Amino acid sequence: MRILIAGAGIAGLAAALALARKDHDVRVVEQAAAIEEVGAGLQLGPNAMRVLDSLGIGEKVAAAGQTPAAITLRDGRSAREILKVPLGDAAKRRWGAAYVTLHRADLVAILAEALEQAQPGALSLGVTVAQVDNRADGIAITTASGAALTADLLIGADGIRSMVREQLFGADTPRFTGHIAWRALVRIDPADPAAPPPGVGAWLGPRRHAVTYRIRPDLVNLVAVTEQADWREEGWNLPGDADRLRADFAGWNTLAPLLARVKGPLRWALFDRKPMRTWHRNRAVLIGDACHPMLPFLAQGAAMGIEDGYALAELLPLEPQHIEPALARFFALRQPRTARIQAMARSNGVDFHEGNPLATLAMRLPLGRAAATRPDAVMARWDWLYGGGPLGVRSAILA
Ligand SMILES: Cc1cc2nc3c(=O)[nH]c(=O)nc-3n(C[C@H](O)[C@H](O)[C@H](O)COP(=O)(O)OP(=O)(O)OC[C@H]3O[C@@H](n4cnc5c(N)ncnc54)[C@H](O)[C@@H]3O)c2cc1C
Repeated sequence: MRILIAGAGIAGLAAALALARKDHDVRVVEQAAAIEEVGAGLQLGPNAMRVLDSLGIGEKVAAAGQTPAAITLRDGRSAREILKVPLGDAAKRRWGAAYVTLHRADLVAILAEALEQAQPGALSLGVTVAQVDNRADGIAITTASGAALTADLLIGADGIRSMVREQLFGADTPRFTGHIAWRALVRIDPADPAAPPPGVGAWLGPRRHAVTYRIRPDLVNLVAVTEQADWREEGWNLPGDADRLRADFAGWNTLAPLLARVKGPLRWALFDRKPMRTWHRNRAVLIGDACHPMLPFLAQGAAMGIEDGYALAELLPLEPQHIEPALARFFALRQPRTARIQAMARSNGVDFHEGNPLATLAMRLPLGRAAATRPDAVMARWDWLYGGGPLGVRSAILA
């Protein structure tokens, strides 16, 4: 089948690779002149890594990044441990793949290289989809430069401000969630006393939280989230003032030495949207942030895009006759999982910021004890997420 993908972000590239592996004729058009990702890190849960393993690039992705031994939730002010989710070998045993943290640019480069090997010339840069003519028997695209492209299927992987979504379902602006994310990469020797503890650290406190993890042995990714009533500034990712970041986290003494090293952080306004009633119409379908943008508080947005691409490739027929039933199956399979994750990411935004006293208490009391004594019980809570998706695990432990 001839498949056109709008957008070469993580979702678009993963879908293109999965479809190329199934012998579809794939073309990805990307508006940017070069394949670039924001200079920041990414966590990939075992659910995403199982998909990348199956696409033949898991080892390369893992080798480019780090495999943290645990996710540890701590109180940001006292550094007291609240909960620990074991990862490392325990994650591999339970969920069938590693939990990896890496530079976004490394993941995108590996995906693009694998696509080029699978289908040379599949990626066209500097091409913007401007107009979509979506008929029952095929799709016609007009690019910003006026060129016409046709295909059997269009996949809109063009992100949270998706123009494919707008053309299919009408204009609808994403909502500002009231959260600002500060993002920075800090070069720091692991032996340096200013380095944060190893693994993924989530540091929680009133109306703010921070996440730290290494993406290379000497490179720490920092995401620090604060609350703000509205967003009136031009654009949604702006250079930020490191002193303001430090002031926002004053008194978080364990993180202070790391924050002192932050230079030139970015400030991101975080937007999301409500789950959609459908993601497809005629010969067009949405994937990734184009249909289910979410807050990053479960670190699953890119993972969901990767799962989408793989699931779609598994479900699509080789010939275009039966596309619409396949798209309906795709939506039925993917929507409940992504909607659950969207909702949980939102509620983490409340719980991480001590916005729900019961959740704050629950996190700090029984779960903490369970974590100390029964790591298996803590891991079991995440089986649906890290063990689920299009390549769900049915290991002996989960059976
Ligand atoms: C602070 C923060 C931390 C995060 N951390 C994690 C994490 O640890 N783990 C995780 O899984 N997720 C994380 N996420 C979420 C993740 O970054 C996104 O969900 C993911 O990058 C979305 O990928 P995408 O391919 O759907 O969209 P995008 O990355 O937005 O890609 C869309 C692409 O489409 C192109 N495009 C747009 N319009 C057009 C057009 N008209 N024609 C052609 N091309 C077009 C764009 O240029 C872009 O390249 C985080 C997000 C934030 C904000």
